[in-house]
Amino acid sequence: MPHSIVTRYDVMRYTAGRVAIAGGLTALVTMGFLITDLGTNETALVPVGTVAHASMTVALTVSILLSGVMSYRSAKLMQQLALTRAELIRVSRTDPLTGLLNRRGFDEAASALLAKAATAGHRVVAVMCDIDRFKAINDRYGHEVGDRVLAEVGEILRDFGARNDLLIARHGGEEFAGLMIDVGDEKARRCVQALCRLCSTKIGGGVVDVPVTMSFGLATHVAGSDLSALMRRADQALYRAKELGRNCVVQLDDVEAAIAC
Ligand code: GH3
Ligand code: MG
Ligand code: MG
Repeated sequence: MPHSIVTRYDVMRYTAGRVAIAGGLTALVTMGFLITDLGTNETALVPVGTVAHASMTVALTVSILLSGVMSYRSAKLMQQLALTRAELIRVSRTDPLTGLLNRRGFDEAASALLAKAATAGHRVVAVMCDIDRFKAINDRYGHEVGDRVLAEVGEILRDFGARNDLLIARHGGEEFAGLMIDVGDEKARRCVQALCRLCSTKIGGGVVDVPVTMSFGLATHVAGSDLSALMRRADQALYRAKELGRNCVVQLDDVEAAIAC
């Protein structure tokens, strides 16, 4: 497989090389076949039918062989291209530290879910959550432990999301976003309270025990508004959860009350 076709010149050079190989092979095979079939006497009289038969046989053999090999190589290249493209798309939508969707992946998946829910007439609830006092964790235990905490929180969120039909992503820094479809306010609140309890834990990968808590903001989608408006509203609720003391859940329509985990 060609590995270094980058410039237009490379393309032309590669094409010229293949054309030369195809032409050379065609000449060799044709020559060999005609010599075997018709002999080497250039002045011999040969029936037209024999020449026509030999020409047809050689033309068909060469074209089938060459087009078969070239089509197979093109198909393999196209397959490789499709796999590489799919992998690139996956990587561009994945957060490398936690393995969760990144913000771009979340925006795409959440927009699709929102459109699906609108068609089906389902309710959509958005969640924004953020690790409490994470800067202090970094300052006290170091950035590496901070990363470990992020990865483990990501794992907790991913497992919980998979079990509870909750789309989860790392929205940036120590902030995560989620989306729930077809749930009432009460069920969404209970679900996020359970998640808040799970995230109130000690993390450290067996080396140190870092006490971690998270705050959560919830907002229900309002018909006619888009994903960014919904996430902004969930963010407002999260902001309020921080103001009300952290390690709690706030639902946007009830911003005065922090719901304990
Ligand atoms: P609050 O409870 O109000 O959210 O306080 P906080 O300290 O968590 O929030 P703040 O915004 O002050 O600090 C967030 C910190 O998160 C600062 C930044 O260095 C850290 N951070 C962001 N991304 C990463 C990361 O990928 N790895 C690590 N280790 N730290 C990160
Ligand atoms: Mg924080
Ligand atoms: Mg933050």
